[in-house]
Amino acid sequence: MKFCSQCGNAVSQRVPEGDNRERFVCDHCHTIHYQNPNIVAGCVPVWQGQVLLCRRAIEPRKGYWTLPAGFMENGETLEQAACRETDEEACARVTGLALYTLFDLPHINQVHVFFRAELADTDFAVGPESLEVQLFDESDIPWDELAFRTVGRTLECFFADRTGHHFPVRNEYLPPLLSTLPTPST
Ligand code: ZN
Repeated sequence: MKFCSQCGNAVSQRVPEGDNRERFVCDHCHTIHYQNPNIVAGCVPVWQGQVLLCRRAIEPRKGYWTLPAGFMENGETLEQAACRETDEEACARVTGLALYTLFDLPHINQVHVFFRAELADTDFAVGPESLEVQLFDESDIPWDELAFRTVGRTLECFFADRTGHHFPVRNEYLPPLLSTLPTPST
């Protein structure tokens, strides 16, 4: 952040009085610009044992498969965010949402939340952010072509829990993937 969104003057980075973290502070209008994690909400839409996945038409991870999910907007609940994203990406309606997985991703300042849900009907369609929308049996899930780790982990949990007919809410911390860091050449 370089400029104050309130008055347009330059901001500086310092610890405000009474605080213990560096913030972007405007020395002109004295606004403190707090930056906090973003929440991604989505769901696992199920129809007769199959799960609805969307192939992304947009970056990041264009061409990869995802559960319908996206950034929560101001003024909506988590459930509303999950339903809206499902409608936007798959033109699908879901019911009976049940909180299922929560992932802490502090290295990217995000929290991802997924609900289990029932597809209300099979009148889904390809939304503007998707290339394809399709129901998958467990045996056909494109595990190597999933867009995000939280999607893969949610699906893993879902199929494991389904065998026991018990779906506890899971809160997991996903650390950064060390394998994605550059390795020194030998
Ligand atoms: Zn300002």
